[in-house]
Amino acid sequence: APAFDAERAREDFPILLEALPSGRRLVYLDNAATTQKPLSVIEASDDYYRHANANVHRAIHTLSQRATQQYEACRDKLAAFLGAGSRDEIVYTRGTTDAINLVAQCYARPRLQSGDEILLTELEHHSNIVPWQMVAEATGAKVVVVPIGDDGSVSIEDFRAKLSDRTVIAAFAHISNSLGTVLPVADMIAAAHEAGAVALIDGAQAVAHLPVDVTALDVDFYAMSGHKLFGPTGFGALYGKRELLDAMPPYQGGGDMIDTVSFSGTTYNDVPYKFEAGTPNIAGAAALGASIDYVNSLDLAAVFDYEHELLARATREMEAIDGLRIIGTAPGKAGIISFVMDGVHAHDIGTLLDESGVAIRTGHHCAMPVMERFDVPATARVSFALYNTQADVDALIAGLESIQRIFG
Ligand code: PMP
Repeated sequence: APAFDAERAREDFPILLEALPSGRRLVYLDNAATTQKPLSVIEASDDYYRHANANVHRAIHTLSQRATQQYEACRDKLAAFLGAGSRDEIVYTRGTTDAINLVAQCYARPRLQSGDEILLTELEHHSNIVPWQMVAEATGAKVVVVPIGDDGSVSIEDFRAKLSDRTVIAAFAHISNSLGTVLPVADMIAAAHEAGAVALIDGAQAVAHLPVDVTALDVDFYAMSGHKLFGPTGFGALYGKRELLDAMPPYQGGGDMIDTVSFSGTTYNDVPYKFEAGTPNIAGAAALGASIDYVNSLDLAAVFDYEHELLARATREMEAIDGLRIIGTAPGKAGIISFVMDGVHAHDIGTLLDESGVAIRTGHHCAMPVMERFDVPATARVSFALYNTQADVDALIAGLESIQRIFG
C-alpha cells in the first residue's frame, strides 16, 4: 500500500500553513489536547450559519428542514464510523466528559447500592474518575482501581483480579492521554461481562488513532469528543447499546426530549432524543459530520501506520538526549510521548519550545494519579496527529537538544 502523505494532508489545515507571530512555522505537537481542523470542517460550520441556520426538529420551513438534515446526517456518519448497529444508539453530547457523566448519572446511579463497585484504572483522565466518585458518594458505592505497571501498561490479569460480583460498571480509556498506552479493551470488556458488569470505554484519544468498532468490541458504552477528531469543540457523542439506553431515565429535562407534556405528567421521547434536551449545537453536528467525511476520505490504515513510524522515530531520537526520560513505554502504544528532563521543570521545557514555534503540553494532563504513580509533579507531553511530519520531529529534537545544552 502507498505510504500516507502527511505533507499533503498539512495543506488541508489552514492553521498549519499560517506563520506564528514570530514568523516561525507552527510545529503543533499538542494533538492529545485538541486537533486542528481541516478547511472542510471550518467551511461546514460557516456554511451552516450562512445557509441553513434554524432550529432543528421543530418547524416545517425550508431552513429548519435543512438544519435538521445536517444535524441528523452526522448521527448516521457517527454510527457508521463507530460501527454501531443503529443510529438510535448515538446520543449527542458536549463531548467525552458529558458522555461519561450521562452514563454515571443515568445508568450507574439508579443501579448502585451501598458496597457495589465501580472499576477504573489508575491511568484514567479526570473526566473518567470524578463522575464516578460523585455517584459513589451519592450511593455508597466504592471506586476500585486497577494499578498500572512501570511501563504504564494495564494488564488483563490485574484487571480480572479487581473485578468482583459487586462490580456494576468498569470504565477505562481506550488510549491513555498522559502515557499513550493502548489498553487491552476487547479482553477487558469480555472479562467485565463474565463478571456481570457492563463496560464503558473513554474513547477520547482513540477515535483519530486506531480503528473503532463498538459492535466487534461488544462494548456497552463508548464516549468520544469531536475536537480530538479534527472536529468542533464542545460536541461529541455517547454510543450506548439500545437496550441499555432504553432502560435509562433521561439526563436533563426540557424541549425536544419529550413526547407529551402536561402538569399531570410528561412522557419522554425515544432514544436518543430523550437525552438531548434543549436546542443543541447544530453547527457542531454539521462540522463533526464534515470531519468524519474528512477522515473517511483518507486511507486510515496507512495513516495509523504512518503515525506509528513517526512515534518510533521520535522516541528513538528523544531517548538519545542526555537526561531525558520517557514515562510510558508500553508495547504498542499510540502517538503520545510523556517525558521529563533532569534539572528542568516541565513548564520550562514547554516555554522554551514555544519560543522555537513548537507547541507541546506540560502539566498533569488531567491525570494527577498518573503523576503520583510515577512520582513526578508534571511531565512534558508530545502528541502526534496525521499532519505531523519528520520536520516537526526535527524541530522538537533541535529544541530539546538546545534545552539540554542550557540546563544539562
Ligand atoms: N478522556 C481522555 C482520555 C481525554 O484525553 C480527554 C480530553 N483531554 C477527555 C476524556 C475529556 O474530553 P472532553 O474535554 O472533550 O470532554
